[in-house]
Amino acid sequence: MTQYADFTYLSTLLRCPLQHHFRYRMGLEPIEGGRSVPMLAGSLGHAALELFYRGEPFIEPIGELYASSGIVAIGTFDYMTQGHLEVVMHNYAERYSEDSILRVTQFIEQPLVSERLQLGGIPDMIVKYEGELAVWDHKWTTGWLGNLESRLELSAQLPIYCILASEHLGQPVRKAVLNMVHMGPGASNPKSKAERFARKTYTHTDWQLEEAERWVRETQLLDNYFFGLSGLPPHNADTHCSWCSFKDLCHARSATVRDAMIATGFKKRNITGTLLSGADMEEG
Ligand code: SF4
Repeated sequence: MTQYADFTYLSTLLRCPLQHHFRYRMGLEPIEGGRSVPMLAGSLGHAALELFYRGEPFIEPIGELYASSGIVAIGTFDYMTQGHLEVVMHNYAERYSEDSILRVTQFIEQPLVSERLQLGGIPDMIVKYEGELAVWDHKWTTGWLGNLESRLELSAQLPIYCILASEHLGQPVRKAVLNMVHMGPGASNPKSKAERFARKTYTHTDWQLEEAERWVRETQLLDNYFFGLSGLPPHNADTHCSWCSFKDLCHARSATVRDAMIATGFKKRNITGTLLSGADMEEG
């Protein structure tokens, strides 16, 4: 089976090679309770969207998923019971008729892949927006929207999605529409509505798209470099540790990685087909 790297795979490598090594090379995952709040928020949000696009009820199933997650983050998921999610969905339903959505990629259809770049990705939708083809993506955050936005501005993800969509449709897609939803504490307060949502449209130039292609190629070269190494690669990613699932394992002082895995509760998963499996798209 052909495997394609995805954006998360490559960006994890840049963020922290050690995290990348744990997750993708060793195929480790926490035995229980290992999903961070941001990961859970993203996957619940996208699961709700999938149900919404299918025309199925979503509030109760999402509440059940949250309840079974084992994560208790007071305030973070108030929106589920306060109708926050319903507001998001109806916001979309009002603005977009079905025929303006050209393709729903998240979960419902297959990811977009580029043979040329050896890269795949799952933008949420391809739409016609203000008369132009656009990639349409939702981001769910428990933090400040501005942080998320500036992180995405520096990231190659949206231009890469545009490249994938262009290849898929056979015509240029330069616009990316980003819908950011804040789900942190206080998100259910009606007065903070303006602070809960932000929509930003990016129109990428040819130059930016070429830069994104270069980023993919160079990161894949880096990936091949680390793949050839034995043992753990070096890292200096202290600023990314706070939400890292591997924090306990990484900071364990056990004699061997195997001892540390046992002590900190990690198991190995089958990494075959991991790169484009839904499990690796959760942060979307
Ligand atoms: S805890 Fe920090 S250094 Fe360790 S793997 Fe995670 S991000 Fe990397």
